[in-house]
Amino acid sequence: MLSGLACPLRRDKGRNSVTKMGVFRRLFAPDVAIDLGTANTLVFVKGWGVVLSEPSVVAVDTKTDEVVAVGSAAKSMIGRTPAHIVATQPLKNGVIADFEVTEKMLTYFIRGARPKRSVLRYLVRPRVAVCVPSGVTGVELRAVKEATESAGARKAYTIEEPMAAAIGADLPVSEPEGSMVVDVGGGTTEVAVISLGGFVTKTSVRVAGNDMDMAIVSHIHKHYQIAIGAQTAEQLKIELGSAFPMPEESAAQVRGRDLVTGLPKTVVITSEEIREAIAPAVDTIVEAVRNTLDPTPPELVSDIMDRGMILAGGGALLRHLDERLRNETGVPVHIAEDPLACVARGSGRFLEAIDLDEGSIASD
Ligand code: ADP
Ligand code: MG
Repeated sequence: MLSGLACPLRRDKGRNSVTKMGVFRRLFAPDVAIDLGTANTLVFVKGWGVVLSEPSVVAVDTKTDEVVAVGSAAKSMIGRTPAHIVATQPLKNGVIADFEVTEKMLTYFIRGARPKRSVLRYLVRPRVAVCVPSGVTGVELRAVKEATESAGARKAYTIEEPMAAAIGADLPVSEPEGSMVVDVGGGTTEVAVISLGGFVTKTSVRVAGNDMDMAIVSHIHKHYQIAIGAQTAEQLKIELGSAFPMPEESAAQVRGRDLVTGLPKTVVITSEEIREAIAPAVDTIVEAVRNTLDPTPPELVSDIMDRGMILAGGGALLRHLDERLRNETGVPVHIAEDPLACVARGSGRFLEAIDLDEGSIASD
């Protein structure tokens, strides 16, 4: 939830009493919500919708300290750069691992969110609400706000990701009913039960899609003595990965560097092998869901049984993760529409429904 705000999705009370400066700011620097994910960053601009969706990757020239590329262009450079260019993901497990590079990335994204046609856009800076995992520490939270403000935000706010995901998935978060959301991203898995605009139970584990990719790299290293990159591993996960046995298993060729000869080598990998390799990460996600359901009051569990839990984030697209969770918990599971954009959509709706100037909203 947006820090300091009691009830999500209230109507904006201050809408009729905005000052001239407020109107000016709304026109040239509308409020922005950023889903700053470990794997992908999405930018929502109030009144416009999601305007940008890019991998959270930055390529920097270490000789000049200049940004060479951001987003997809930088992601395609990972593992392919000359020595003086470094392409990195500045966030690890949902929190800032490299402050300066995160700030550079946010500067690029906040600039991309400004109205294009008027020069006045350079004079006013937007207020920015950034999504953060629910398990972050105070220090990690402050780092996100500082990076956002030094990247060009007039003021930074934070929204807890599971709340944004639940709103994005159209769950009735402000009703006295139990809603459950499971957001499997690149670096964190967030599980929450929400009722009356607040968290009843929540679990945040720093295990998600990236851990599956790393497990695939290690599996191929250990069993075939071949080195592959994280991007190849991610492609294998998307192509062959699953969380539950499939009626028809498949296989794919993988090319890497033979660790013994140093030469290129191709091997065939099956979907069973990938499922086995990613099993420890998938088990941790299943455990997080069980641990969240366990202390949930029975009335709310009954609501969740009726509506089902909602899967969001890119990890929701892992084949049969829904079936696995259904099988292990007995609760119906539904995948959110466009799960990769669910958090951004929810934080945007939140922004549309509130006025950041309202006194009840704190920025720390
Ligand atoms: P974050 O919020 O941490 O940036 P996202 O919600 O954007 O993460 O999800 C990114 C993760 O989802 C990555 O680990 C990516 O590999 C994974 N992912 C995307 N598509 C699929 C798919 N079809 N199957 C399995 N995993 C996927
Ligand atoms: Mg996310």
